[in-house]
Amino acid sequence: MKPSASPKLELETLQQELCREFDRLNAVHFAGRLSRPEITVSARKIYGGYYQPRLHRIVVSWQGHLDHGLEETLNTFRHEVAHIVHPHHRAEFWTLAHTLGVTKRYASTPLAARPPRQPKYIYVCPACGKKIFRHRRLKLSSCAACDPKFNAKFLLKLIAPEILKIPQ
Ligand SMILES: [Zn+2]
Ligand SMILES: [Zn+2]
Repeated sequence: MKPSASPKLELETLQQELCREFDRLNAVHFAGRLSRPEITVSARKIYGGYYQPRLHRIVVSWQGHLDHGLEETLNTFRHEVAHIVHPHHRAEFWTLAHTLGVTKRYASTPLAARPPRQPKYIYVCPACGKKIFRHRRLKLSSCAACDPKFNAKFLLKLIAPEILKIPQ
């Protein structure tokens, strides 16, 4: 896993940071007219965030922060602040969201919940039967288990995706 370039904060620090960000947005874009919502960083929320109008509460995901760092959390947070004004995703919502500094349309998925990418290409060594799984097509390769150097005797044979196309 590549470490995120964006810094990560402690939960309490993050909560304070978001309060500060709210006050900043409120001062710069709303002339201080919004009342500060309750701001919760939730360990239970899987990713992204939401705004609850009846409670006047913004919830953002702690896991999202751990996975993607402060940039991502601020992006989500500003999105939810825009929902205080517009409870929908119509054009005027996005206009405001962009004004508030939202740069992404969707929250990133948490790393843990992202489904593993299935390898598309399966090769087999005709000598030892070892299977090799690859996301991309290999150039002419031979089985490293049979011979660490390229050896035409142990050329890997592609058995998938072709094999998947054979009708049952
Ligand atoms: Zn939204
Ligand atoms: Zn082999």
